[in-house]
Amino acid sequence: MRRSNLLVAVPALLALAGVLLAGSPRPAEAVALSMLVVLLTVVAWRFVGERPNRLQTVANLLEALREGDYGVRASGAERADDFGDIARRFNELAVRLQDEQRGLQESVQLLSKTLAALDGAVFAFERDGRLRLVNPAGERLLGRSAVALLGADAGALGLASLLEVPSGEIVAHRFAGQSGRWQVGHASLRSRSQEGRLLVVQPMERALREEEAQAFRRLLRVLSHEITNSMAPIGSMVETLHGLLPGAGQPLGDELDADLRHGLEVIGQRSAALQRFVGHYARLARLPPPQRVRVGVAALAERVVRLFDDARIRVLPGDPLELMGDPDQLEQVLINLLRNAVEAGGDNEVLLGWRRQGRSVLIEVSDLGPGLPSSGNLFVPFFTTKPQGAGIGLALSRQIVEAQDGTLELHAREDARGAVARMSLPVIVV
Ligand code: ADP
Repeated sequence: MRRSNLLVAVPALLALAGVLLAGSPRPAEAVALSMLVVLLTVVAWRFVGERPNRLQTVANLLEALREGDYGVRASGAERADDFGDIARRFNELAVRLQDEQRGLQESVQLLSKTLAALDGAVFAFERDGRLRLVNPAGERLLGRSAVALLGADAGALGLASLLEVPSGEIVAHRFAGQSGRWQVGHASLRSRSQEGRLLVVQPMERALREEEAQAFRRLLRVLSHEITNSMAPIGSMVETLHGLLPGAGQPLGDELDADLRHGLEVIGQRSAALQRFVGHYARLARLPPPQRVRVGVAALAERVVRLFDDARIRVLPGDPLELMGDPDQLEQVLINLLRNAVEAGGDNEVLLGWRRQGRSVLIEVSDLGPGLPSSGNLFVPFFTTKPQGAGIGLALSRQIVEAQDGTLELHAREDARGAVARMSLPVIVV
């Protein structure tokens, strides 16, 4: 029996009992009891008569929410009784849910618009390895529509090898729809406590080509500047010497002899400078593979500093550490770093020091110069702020260090004005 029926049935039975009691020895009490029971029955009837309807209403409203219809509102919110209170709270809840749903829809729309506008292809894989989401760039990359792609795993889509590439790496890859150089990024993805994978494939061809074109333009600018600088004096010197030459068969006087010698010397110097200059560029383009051996850091530092023979350079005492590297190439790096530091520091001292840092030796060259120019291009080949600079010292140095599993960075000093070059190379643990 339903509770509401019970609520009515119990007083009704009591009323019946009251009527039966009417024939009892105490009729007055029986009548009073009967009247009370009749009253209760009327009240209960009214109460439960309305209640099933309201309960039903509440159940319907909750069902609507459960189905995601947050536009429903309970009527009767203006009432001052319990039901009014419930209706008001329900409506507040529905409004909040509706706001959140709207916010969520807007975020989803924004996200899908952003994904659609991206140059890079985005793939999201479920925990079971199946493709759950792909953006239009991803469809173009694989040359198929999302409908044909969703549900397939990375292997079937030809993307499995990219998930093995270290994130952030640039790789050359041929996809069904496009080929070229791509930056690959991936990360794990957690949604509803499920672990998935996100793969982003960013086209790099255009950016790299632009970067290469810029480097090429810089190279041409620097080369033509240097070549013109050398060829102009050579050309004018040749002309002068030609004019000085006596007629055929006539002897050279002493003065003329000296002029000729001087002229030839200048020509020789300029062409040697030009050769050195071109040699620098050739080195940048054809850096030989490093011959790595055990290198004592203190001995390396001493060797380089001796080459400079400059009182401004001071070697700080350091631990007797050894690293794995190519000593000749590392000497070249230290020469570049020290030369930059001396040029930046003017009369001030330049410090060369080293210490162990985890699995690496950290070698530092610090100066008291003006600090770094505000450019992110210091390591870009041919970038220079010096009138006679070639702009290859840092680029070449980083190339050398990275080929030996190290890193090279240039920072503003924290303890003083000036810059500090930090080179880190694998230490040999003894
Ligand atoms: P170059 O010395 O021929 O200019 P580099 O590649 O060695 O070529 O350096 C590139 C640029 O980096 C320099 O022109 C200079 O602007 C900046 N730079 C390098 N080292 C320092 C330093 N210690 N302090 C300030 N600027 C520096």
